[in-house]
Amino acid sequence: MIDYHIHTLLSDGKDTHEACLRMAAQYNMNEIGFSDHICLTFPHWSVAESNFVPMKEEIRKIKNIQELPFKVKFGIEMDYLPNREEEIKNVIDKLKVDYVIGSVHFINGWNFDTDPSSYINKSIDSLYTDYFELLQRSTSSGLFDIIGHADVIKKFGYYPSFKLTDLYKQAAKSFRKANIVIELNTSGLAKPCNEFYPSEEFLKICKKEKVPVTLGSDAHQAVDIARNFTKAINLLKATGYKQIAVFENRNRSFVSI
Ligand SMILES: [Zn+2]
Ligand SMILES: [Zn+2]
Repeated sequence: MIDYHIHTLLSDGKDTHEACLRMAAQYNMNEIGFSDHICLTFPHWSVAESNFVPMKEEIRKIKNIQELPFKVKFGIEMDYLPNREEEIKNVIDKLKVDYVIGSVHFINGWNFDTDPSSYINKSIDSLYTDYFELLQRSTSSGLFDIIGHADVIKKFGYYPSFKLTDLYKQAAKSFRKANIVIELNTSGLAKPCNEFYPSEEFLKICKKEKVPVTLGSDAHQAVDIARNFTKAINLLKATGYKQIAVFENRNRSFVSI
């Protein structure tokens, strides 16, 4: 069992790295990865630039702890901002991480996944079209190893008037072309949308396109680490997945589930 999507106090998580380690030790984990938010515009929920060095140092220390019963990886959840690819690449290269989750949290500067009140004034159809376009741009940028919560635009339970199948198919094709991994992110189950990211239909389409998958809880507190993972692994198996992706120094390999 691996959990590659965990936030700490350094971004918008509530707990320290140490508290997360203690919690993970209670489960039968093989690997965990810290993936605090990094964003070029430095919103309050992302790691401050002054904390880049302390973050690297903290992970280095943890990796040196001999008696941990699981591997620890250094990941980040990096915001995709269109037309700023070069700057994003520079930040990623400097941090020397094991893996990068690329996430879309902004549409035309609007931080849609933290602001449920503004959906009421928008065209939900356009939001979905715009979101999926950004998702594909983030995929083909070549900047990321993993696509974060691929259909997070559904978070607050607003859905378009059209069927999403075609957008899922286009996205899955772009994932395959970019040779990128998606995560099955379990946090959506506790949100108004009340399902994993991606949805079962989207996940099935990704499997058909042979898109590899990894697993993340998107925990913002230690107690949420590996939340709903039994359900997630059952879904992956039922969809036909037999292995999940892991990373080291941005090299990908697979473990059986
Ligand atoms: Zn996110
Ligand atoms: Zn996250």
